Amino acid sequence: MVNYDVLVAGAGTVGCATAVTLSRLGLRVAIIGPKSPIDDAMSEPLAGMPYDNRVFAIRPSTKQFLMESYFWDDLASERAQSVRRIQVDGASRPSLTLDAHDAGVLQLACIVENDNLKRAIGRHVRSEQSVEFLGGEILSIEQKLHFVRVVTSSGEMTCKLLVAADGSDSVVRQFSGLSVATRDYGCTGLVANFTTALAHQNTAYQWMGQDGVIAYLPLPGNLVSMVWSVRNELAQEVNEHVLCDLLAERYNPLKITSLNSAIGRFPLRRTLPQSVSLGRVVLVGDAAHQFLPLAGQGLNVGLSDTAKLCSLIKAYGMIDPGSLSVINRYRRARKEEIESLTWFTETIHDMASDESQLCRSFQDIGFAAVRGSNIFRRFFIDKAMG
Ligand SMILES: Cc1cc2nc3c(=O)[nH]c(=O)nc-3n(C[C@H](O)[C@H](O)[C@H](O)COP(=O)(O)OP(=O)(O)OC[C@H]3O[C@@H](n4cnc5c(N)ncnc54)[C@H](O)[C@@H]3O)c2cc1C
Repeated sequence: MVNYDVLVAGAGTVGCATAVTLSRLGLRVAIIGPKSPIDDAMSEPLAGMPYDNRVFAIRPSTKQFLMESYFWDDLASERAQSVRRIQVDGASRPSLTLDAHDAGVLQLACIVENDNLKRAIGRHVRSEQSVEFLGGEILSIEQKLHFVRVVTSSGEMTCKLLVAADGSDSVVRQFSGLSVATRDYGCTGLVANFTTALAHQNTAYQWMGQDGVIAYLPLPGNLVSMVWSVRNELAQEVNEHVLCDLLAERYNPLKITSLNSAIGRFPLRRTLPQSVSLGRVVLVGDAAHQFLPLAGQGLNVGLSDTAKLCSLIKAYGMIDPGSLSVINRYRRARKEEIESLTWFTETIHDMASDESQLCRSFQDIGFAAVRGSNIFRRFFIDKAMG
């Protein structure tokens, strides 16, 4: 039986970033997952390829982590786009603008394609000598006092720490016996890219209307990436023939001229486990928290999980990365951000979808207060920047 310091379940962005960062500390690390991240790294160059319709708004603290980990160096940087302004609109009220100048920073976020980021991190998995990729499927886990025994379809192994980075339906979380509270919003996240007639001027646009929230995130040139959190009934009617018209009827500040990608669809739910750890198992990324994409923070918070876990292991867990001194500190450290973001995204969703006059009036008062107050504006900028 092979013994590892850390096993990471899940070769997504968060799992791979965690595995590479831990292996650089000198720990013996392996990733278990159905798909090898090295395939992403080896795929043909992005230059000249259409933009991925899955993009992330990367906040400055996440960018800092990606730079310090050298992942940022491997991004195709000409395909990333900085955001200097966020404009929030509602059905009939004046715009609310959050500007990087107000926060004394150069940018509020950077838009990066999923494909671009996966390839960059995959390259580091490939070049990092001490990260092994084990294919296969986890069949069972058994927690002992000093280690975890993991049985996969390709063999049996042990580790001192098992990191669940296997996404929102985490199998490791289920095997660990951690319960989850879920909320189905009855909404779908529609994503697609568009060419626009007007220049975006490094601005991200967001609209809160009665049948959903529409965001246009700037991409290089005159391209934008749209995320529309929309009720399922309307999402079912959306196809490539009607999407431009449906958007034009609701919110079209940049004058969309054509659809530039396939339409992606993601069911929107909130998944919140009772805890981000149990015994020698810790959860990171969507396995630990799945939010509505309204504030564009899921991956950002996932990579904060990675950064925190790795720094705690470096400080307290080089002999035993699954020790109580690491696990308890990790659980306490992650609680506040996860709970406050869950509250923030749910409040925005509930207010946007509440059609009562009372709620509309509250929204108008809220918008006016944020427009007129530097303190409130700063609060929202801080939320956007993490
Ligand atoms: C429409 C939309 C827009 C978004 N926009 C943003 C944004 O702007 N900014 C932002 O920060 N976040 C955003 N998010 C959230 C973000 O996409 C997720 O938080 C992030 O991708 C989660 O990464 P992850 O690595 O934790 O999970 P995943 O990407 O789900 O990766 C999980 C990995 O685990 C593997 N796996 C699954 N089952 C198993 C198993 N049994 N054993 C082993 N491996 C397994 C999968 O193959 C996959 O490789 C958005 C989400 C949506 C839906």
